[in-house]
Parts: sequence; structure tokens; C-alpha cells
Amino acid sequence: MPHFVIELLYLASGVLFILGLRGLSHPESARNGMFLVELGMLMAIIGTLMHREIVRYDWIIAGLLIGSIVGLAMGLWVPMTAMPQRTALSHAFGAFAAALVGISEYYRHGGNLPVFIMVALGFEVLFGFITVTGSLIAFSKLQGLMPGRPLVYKGQNIVNLVFFGVTVGSFLGILIHPQTSWLFYLMASLALVFGVLLVVPIGSGDMPVVMSLLNSYAGLASAATGFAIGNSVLIVAGTLDGFSGFILSILMCKAMNRSITNVLFGAFGSVGEESQAAAGAEMREISAEDAAVQLAYARQVVIVPGYGMATAQAQHVLRELADELEERGVTVKYAIHPVAGRMPGHMNVLLAEANVPYSQLYELEQINPEFPTTDVSIVVGANDVVNPDARDNPKSVIAGMPILEVDRSKLAIVLKRGKGRGFSGLENPLFFKENTALLYGDAKDSLTRLVQAVKKV
Ligand code: NAP
Repeated sequence: MPHFVIELLYLASGVLFILGLRGLSHPESARNGMFLVELGMLMAIIGTLMHREIVRYDWIIAGLLIGSIVGLAMGLWVPMTAMPQRTALSHAFGAFAAALVGISEYYRHGGNLPVFIMVALGFEVLFGFITVTGSLIAFSKLQGLMPGRPLVYKGQNIVNLVFFGVTVGSFLGILIHPQTSWLFYLMASLALVFGVLLVVPIGSGDMPVVMSLLNSYAGLASAATGFAIGNSVLIVAGTLDGFSGFILSILMCKAMNRSITNVLFGAFGSVGEESQAAAGAEMREISAEDAAVQLAYARQVVIVPGYGMATAQAQHVLRELADELEERGVTVKYAIHPVAGRMPGHMNVLLAEANVPYSQLYELEQINPEFPTTDVSIVVGANDVVNPDARDNPKSVIAGMPILEVDRSKLAIVLKRGKGRGFSGLENPLFFKENTALLYGDAKDSLTRLVQAVKKV
């Protein structure tokens, strides 16, 4: 196949990746964006299969088959709430592939490579292996295979820094003496260990930020692979991946009012600071029937979905409740916190699945001024994103994180199963306030009971 056909396919796939990313930046166009990215990936695969250097296809077909089966199974059976750990696994696979290409290139040429290629190979293996073990630790923490809390000890940051220094030192060494193969393999092994050291002290609440950072490393490893083997689509896709991952990490940190260094080195979540506001206070329970009366006679109701709505898969019945209230003339709005749930856009995706009109979704800055005039706020399995301590208690570990101020509404009805805490592990003084009432039970069951009760009012 002429080389220019392959390059044309790669160009088309690069353009499709960019258009796809553009589509993904808005919930309404996200689905189409995803299709464009898939088409781009198909073109990249077809282009790659046309390479003349390929001598045998049997290994490639075997890889394609295994990868497709695993990918299909994960797509079909992994629930939305497990998406973060699934993504962590994908990063580990992708980065492992990139790092293996780097190792095989070095093994093939034995260091007889131009300096520029050696730099690219070094980056590829370094970032690739850090991402592999870092992502596997992230996966284990999110899946509960190891403790989610930060695992820390005194002087850890210094130990990590020294370790990183030695790893980078071996990278520089290999550039000066490219033939010294033990140095290359030492760098690869150190990178694997450093991935573990980097993620172990980070709590699972911060894992989404870490993962998008690892995503960024995996992207950079792929871009470096592209340079090392002269593959333009890898350079384009890797760079897009690298920078979008980095921008996403920054956006998530901003939404939590934390710095990226605080997320990476702050061991957030290791010390749960108890709220003074909650000391000695009692929580007030409300029945579905009483809650339904409050809702049915409200002028405005604001719904705040959180992680609990996702685990309960309560978005459809939530929409039913909203429809029922609207039929009675109640204005219903949904307040979306940027880090509600366990991944960026989590609530938007679930509500879109239940066909909630996009015009009813309000961002934090838009909805907060409306809470004082809101009759009832319904908190559906959200906790940290409505914790007033973030605003009122400068000593809280989440101090400064922007919150949805449901405590300022006339009544806040909180749907949760029991006395479980949010992902930060902090107590929430909202639950003890006079204008808060708790409706206990799985969010889906509670909402079903509410729908039936509202119908009877
Ligand atoms: P959250 O603070 O984790 O709280 C979830 C609440 O839902 C818990 O209080 C739990 O209480 C309740 N719950 C769980 N399952 C339930 C069910 N089946 N039915 C009813 N209630 C249920 O959730 P959030 O307010 O959405 O906050 C998200 C957290 O993740 C924040 O700390 C945020 O910083 C962190 N985070 C998110 C992202 C992101 O990208 N979205 C990124 C980084 C960090 P019970 O156990 O009593 O039911």
C-alpha cells in the first residue's frame, strides 16, 4: 500500500480525534463526539495494518481478538459507578503497550540510535511504566482491593523525591551512555516502583484527579512512542491525550479548591476532622408522606444529585418525581456540582440517560443565589458537595471547596441509607441542622415511595 494512503488515513484519524474531543466538551454533542473518536480509532488501526513492515498477521489478529473481547465485555458489564477503576485499568494497559514498544525498540537496536530517538524512547519507558503501576494501585484502591486511605509515613515526600531523582538520573545516564543496557533496564524497573510510591500516599477520594494525571502521562508516553517509531497518529493522539488529561486534572482541582501539589503530596483524607457544628446534635427523620406534602406545595424545588444517585441508579425515578411535581406547577431545577459523583460529568451523563432536559441543569454559581428562595432542596445521595463546613469551618480539610448551599434553602430533604459519610470521610453538619430532614433508604426506593406519595397529595 503506498505510504501516502497510510498517512492520509492517519491525518483523517487525527482530525476525527480533534472533532471528537470538541464534541465531548458538551453533554448534548458528547455522543456524536464519541462516535467520531471511534471512527478515528478505526482509521488509525486500518492505517497501521497496511504498513509494509508487517511480516506476519497472526499475532496481530490474536491481539485484536483478545483486545476486542476484553473491551466488549468491559463495555457491556462494568457498571457506570465502576467506571473510574475501569478507566484506571485501561490506562495501565495502554501505558504497558507503549512501554513495551520502547523496550523492544531498545532491545532491537541495542542503543545504536540517534540521541533524539533515545530521548523519546527513555520518556516512553519512564512515563509508560510509572503509569502502569500507578494505575494498577489506583485500580486496587478504587476497587477496594487495598485500603482507600492514604498510606503515609514520616519523610515520605523526601524518600519519593530522592527515588525520583535516582530514576531521572538513570534516564540521563542512558542518554550519555546509550549502549549501557543495564542502566536502561534499571530506569525501567525504578519507574515501575516509582509509580507505586507516587499513588500509595493518595486517598481514593483524589483518585479521579490522579487518574487523569496518569492518563496525561500515558498520552505523553504514546506521543514519545510516535516520535521513536516515526508514527504520526501516535504523536497526534498521544499529545491530545496528554494535554486533555492535564487540563482535566487542573479543572478538577479547581472545583475542589485544591492545588495539584496538595492532591499529589497532601495525603488528603488521612485525618478526618470532626465538625464541631454536629457535636451532640440529633438528626431529624422525615417520612415519605410528610416529605411529599412539602414537595407538592412548594413553589420551587432544587434537586442535588450525588454519588448515591449513581450507585442506586435512581436517575429515572428521579425524573418521574420531577415530572410529577412539574405537573402540579412546581418549578424544578437540578443543581450540578462539578465533582459530584466519582468522575467529571458523572451526574450530567446519568441525568441525560433519564432524558432530563439540559435547560433544567444549573451550575454551582448559577444556583447558589437561588437557595434562600427555594422552598425544598432534595439531596439525592450527595454529601461532600453540600457540606457547609467547607464554607464555614476554616479548619476543615475541605475548607474552601465550593459547595451547593442547600443549607440556605427553607427545607433540605436528604435521601441516604444511614449514617454513612461522604468520600472525604467527614461528618456533615448539614444533616444536623433544624431545616434539614433525613429520608432514609436506598435512593431509588425512597424516590419511588416519594412519587407514590406525591400522587396521593
Ligand atoms: P459523597 O460525598 O461520596 O457522598 C455520597 C453519599 O451517598 C453518602 O453520604 C452515602 O451515605 C450516600 N449513598 C451511597 N449510596 C447510596 C444509595 N444507594 N442510596 C442513597 N444514598 C446513598 O458524594 P458527593 O457529594 O457526590 O461527592 C463526591 C466526592 O467525590 C467529593 O468528595 C469529591 O471531591 C470526590 N471526587 C469526585 C470527583 C469527580 O470527578 N466527580 C473527582 C475527585 C474527587 P449512606 O452511606 O448513609 O447512604
